[in-house]
Amino acid sequence: MVNFLLGQQSGFTKYPCFLCMWDSRDTAHHYTKKDWPVREELVPCRASNVINSPLVDRDRILFPPLHIKLGLIKQFTKALDKEGGCFNYMCQTFPGVTIVKLKAGIFDGPQIRRLIRDPEFEKSMNKVEQEAWNAFVLVVKNFLGNNKARNYAELVNNMVTAFKKLGCNMSIKLHYLFSHMDRFPENLGSMSDEQGERFHQEIKEMETRYQGRWNAVMMADYCWTLKRDIPDAEHSRVSNKRKFQP
Ligand SMILES: [Zn+2]
Repeated sequence: MVNFLLGQQSGFTKYPCFLCMWDSRDTAHHYTKKDWPVREELVPCRASNVINSPLVDRDRILFPPLHIKLGLIKQFTKALDKEGGCFNYMCQTFPGVTIVKLKAGIFDGPQIRRLIRDPEFEKSMNKVEQEAWNAFVLVVKNFLGNNKARNYAELVNNMVTAFKKLGCNMSIKLHYLFSHMDRFPENLGSMSDEQGERFHQEIKEMETRYQGRWNAVMMADYCWTLKRDIPDAEHSRVSNKRKFQP
């Protein structure tokens, strides 16, 4: 979706980050290299996977905390031993969820909260899983929630290290946390999970209605939703260059 907004090629791309030239195939450097060459501008260029001029200013694009959380638990779950206690515990906790979904690590906000609250969940884990899970919970509570701890950068870095140890692949959201943490506005946590979930639900409904065919008006609405939920956000930099027809 973000790719579409920025004119980037959808689906698998070598450079999926709209801020830098993070090479998604260069897995050897994913956890060691924090700074990748900055994307100068998003001009159509086949080499960098940009196929159209951007529809919106990239400063307007933010990831809601819920999306980051969903992305993180996905990487965590995918790295779990599928025969191990932790993954089995997840299966037992959510008997209504298909094994395909569980293996893909597709959860929602309430399910994540339930796992965080469950003291038995941690007991099902081995040491490396426990470290990664606890680091994730700390980031959820002290960075992605309403309270941003002073040491949030340290918490995020610890989590990235623990995820690496567990064998998680670097995803675009994990990369975003690892390399672009400074782009999270201080009040990001003011977008509550409830807002995030409502938004998620709306997007799902729109997707069903339009059978996956997105149009530019929905894209623009998406961006505005993100911006509107940040109370002090700057609204003056509106581009009138393009007008969209539904
Ligand atoms: Zn990047």
